[in-house]
Amino acid sequence: MRIGLHVRVAGGYAQAVAHAKAVGASAMQVFSTNPRSYRPSVVNASVLNDFAALRREAGIDPCVTHTPYLVNLASADEKILEGSVRLLESDLAVAALGGIRYVNTHLGSYGKRERHEGFTGICRALEGVLGGIAPGVSLVMENSAGAGALAGGTLEELGRFVKAVDHPQLGVCLDTAHAWAAGYEINTAAGVDRFVYEAAETIGLDRIALFHFNDTQVPLGGNRDRHWHIGEGNVGVEGFRALLARPELREKTAILETPGSDDDDARNMQAILTIALGVAELP
Ligand SMILES: [Zn+2]
Ligand SMILES: [Zn+2]
Repeated sequence: MRIGLHVRVAGGYAQAVAHAKAVGASAMQVFSTNPRSYRPSVVNASVLNDFAALRREAGIDPCVTHTPYLVNLASADEKILEGSVRLLESDLAVAALGGIRYVNTHLGSYGKRERHEGFTGICRALEGVLGGIAPGVSLVMENSAGAGALAGGTLEELGRFVKAVDHPQLGVCLDTAHAWAAGYEINTAAGVDRFVYEAAETIGLDRIALFHFNDTQVPLGGNRDRHWHIGEGNVGVEGFRALLARPELREKTAILETPGSDDDDARNMQAILTIALGVAELP
């Protein structure tokens, strides 16, 4: 698998790429704009070109943009829905300009809405956004930790979005911390077997574009979104080893979104690359 990490861009893209490269990443993820704001990012073609050139030089590909947390495609509130769609459109446009292959988004929460209404609302919003998508970019829906009314907490539901919208540039990102919190027991080879089998049956492995590799201290099925250091939580070394050992996932990309400082990033990348190396050396 191509393995990389989420990188802060507050210090500029050059610093972000240098950090990713320094910790051994061959892929990276960034926020396009303030993750807690509805304001779309300012598009600057020359800055995006430079960013793409830096990644090329560093051998970092693919690059992923993570949309702001405020995105809620399930909302019954017109203003929230419009704001969310605008953010997605803006991130997709930036991605197209900057050679960024994936735009990863959370789907949002059904709130007090009937689930089937919210589901239809999300499908409409996705169809609208995908109507204007440029070639070479995919929109990727991330699984949620499955709390209460959050959309996309199960593989089965993500698969229903993929089928209902039926667009070749719509894919799925599976976050290991969220999957564990949603009740998928991915801490053993047998558990990962079941998880991958179910993902293949419901979503289709060709639609799974990305993984977020995060450990977590949340109990199985605890429905809380808390990330932790690789190998130091409940998914553990065994869970990541089992995922990295799956031949049908070999062409996928995994992005770490682990907490902490640059030093923590280095330690987490070291941990996952060591596990990957161990898998590669198996007879
Ligand atoms: Zn994630
Ligand atoms: Zn998370």
